[in-house]
Amino acid sequence: MFSPSSPPAGLLEKVFQYIDLHQNEFVQTLKEWVAMESDSVQPLPRLRQELFRMMALAADKLRCLGASVDSLPNGQTLPIPPIILAELGNDPKKPTVCFYGHLDVQPARQEDGWLTDPYTLTEVDGKLYGRGATDNKGPVLAWINAVSTFRSLEEDLPVNIKFVIEGMEEAGSVGLEELVRKEKDRFFSSVDYIVISDNLWLSQRKPALTYGTRGNSYFTVEVKCRDQDFHSGTFGGILNEPMADLVALLGNNTILFDSVPLASLGLPASSE
Ligand SMILES: [Zn+2]
Repeated sequence: MFSPSSPPAGLLEKVFQYIDLHQNEFVQTLKEWVAMESDSVQPLPRLRQELFRMMALAADKLRCLGASVDSLPNGQTLPIPPIILAELGNDPKKPTVCFYGHLDVQPARQEDGWLTDPYTLTEVDGKLYGRGATDNKGPVLAWINAVSTFRSLEEDLPVNIKFVIEGMEEAGSVGLEELVRKEKDRFFSSVDYIVISDNLWLSQRKPALTYGTRGNSYFTVEVKCRDQDFHSGTFGGILNEPMADLVALLGNNTILFDSVPLASLGLPASSE
């Protein structure tokens, strides 16, 4: 394992000074990224094209940093955007940190209640508003900017870096699980830490380290009583009504899911 070491004296000051000096450029790039309507939810060819453009732009940006970049395609009727795998550095003496992020967004129209155009990054009272500004284009760019700052200052990065950037997160991360399984023994084999910055700050000044999320589990429940219909008058009370059983089962789902392994109920335990 790698033991944490403090950065060389003065390095962080230099890095922060560089970031302050280049803030406008960073915001300008975010503005360009927000302007791309990379909506993965609505299955429209125009939006899918926009999503492809977004992924290509991010891949180019990573290539400019000197990263080796793979974009892994996935053929479907409405094409699925590639997932970007990029790596910078492979020094065995350094830990390898893998950053995950996504560049697609949920649909947004001004009529939904936006006070500004969702695809035009707009500053209001020192805050930047735009679809995807925080979820998740801004955080992806923040990592890229951090790496490019080290590069520009010609400072050695303290870690090897990998990026996994997808474009279908808002539509259920189509293709990601398959890719992770496929790349388990190659791209991901040297990863020591994964950082997911698809999250929130507690306040404008208080960042948060999220060390666990709940995720979702999908399954189907079917409750059956008998194979044939029975007259309620005579049989009611003797036979349980499946609907009532189902409601009771779902009504207890917190207890059920917290304490009973799904497998023991005969339910598939796969989760994401
Ligand atoms: Zn997100």
